[in-house]
Amino acid sequence: MTATPTPTLEIDRLTKSFGALKAVNGVSFTVSEGEILGIAGPNGSGKSTLFNIITNIPFRADSGRTVFRGRDIQGKASHDIARMGLARTFQRETVFPTLRSIDNVLLAVENGPRAGSQTDNERRAEAALDLAGFPATMHNTPAGGLPVFYRKLVMIAGALALDPTVVLLDEPAASLTEGEIDRMRHLILRLREAGTTILLIEHVLPLLTSVSDRLIVLDQGTLISQGKPADVIADPRVVEAYLGGAA
Ligand code: ADP
Ligand code: MG
Repeated sequence: MTATPTPTLEIDRLTKSFGALKAVNGVSFTVSEGEILGIAGPNGSGKSTLFNIITNIPFRADSGRTVFRGRDIQGKASHDIARMGLARTFQRETVFPTLRSIDNVLLAVENGPRAGSQTDNERRAEAALDLAGFPATMHNTPAGGLPVFYRKLVMIAGALALDPTVVLLDEPAASLTEGEIDRMRHLILRLREAGTTILLIEHVLPLLTSVSDRLIVLDQGTLISQGKPADVIADPRVVEAYLGGAA
């Protein structure tokens, strides 16, 4: 058979402007089931905005299409997108600080597609925290009192609690130590092994290039390179974009 399988996610000429600034400018790419797609680019190149407009949190694209498992989700409400199985995390650890860690995740379960009895929901929340590698001894700790690594795990568990087929991770390794980055790497690989498709924005390039099947690079809202990680980071356009940003 030579038929091309339908991509899990198809991004088609997405565009988002803030006034005169084209934060995302006609970006197109596809993601296959089970793939880890890495997303790189200098600060301000439009990576987080891309996740924002795919998930409609907090705003939708000006134009273009997002097709998720064959359905056009452009303009759908963010909670409907999440319930369809496309979940995300944020660049800043977004947790309810005064709620216990377990209750943060329980909230996600209760608002997710598999909400059931209280007991079932609690079991699902615990399973999501386990999958994220969050220690059971910390379930009752208010999320605001956790070190940054564990706050990130609570946020990721909240996304996993929705039973997503696709997860968008926005810089999960930011402000982590070497050891924590390695644990994050193993978490990402565990999710892939479980069949989850992953879009990963990351500035920590060794992490990004080691886990990604494919890499895309944004510069000033435009997709400037895509392909195998080793080829993409050696692409002169990519080198130029990073050096230009540093200058
Ligand atoms: P990245 O995640 O690649 O660092 P962002 O997507 O956060 O970049 O930002 C891309 C550009 O869009 C930047 O110039 C940023 O200042 C601008 N931008 C992002 N969000 C907003 C917003 N809500 N209002 C105005 N400008 C924004
Ligand atoms: Mg960002």
